[in-house]
Amino acid sequence: MITNKSIDTLRDRGLRLTRPRRIILDVVRATDAHPTAAFVYRRVRRRLPRVSLATVYRNLRMLAAEGFLAERADTAGMRFDGNIGPHDHFTCLACGRIDDVPAPAQRTDRRLPARTGFEVLDHRTEYYGRCRVCRRPGGRSSRTR
Ligand SMILES: [Zn+2]
Ligand SMILES: [Zn+2]
Repeated sequence: MITNKSIDTLRDRGLRLTRPRRIILDVVRATDAHPTAAFVYRRVRRRLPRVSLATVYRNLRMLAAEGFLAERADTAGMRFDGNIGPHDHFTCLACGRIDDVPAPAQRTDRRLPARTGFEVLDHRTEYYGRCRVCRRPGGRSSRTR
């Protein structure tokens, strides 16, 4: 939930945080599931019944461009992340959920620029496997066998 104080701060920074944008931001920040636009749309529609998926999507992209959210391209499409701090992700191959993983302190390979001539500004590690639920006997992955 965004307080009136933080809304004032956003106004001071010259950003328009309309009611739909505030609700969209609330929805993404309230979940750690790295939702798709369609998921956010379903949640937002409970509070704004006449909102369109296109409006939700456009606002998600704008909020991400302004640094309120992170966005990540995924095989399943664009996902949105309320956690804008540095972190890596673990994707469960059985159920598709994405969890945050703390980023290691040493994020870049210092030898890379010397080897390739690239200036490295950021680095991301993606983990894939089975989540806690899917590893359990009788979990989703064993049922699909
Ligand atoms: Zn899983
Ligand atoms: Zn994340």
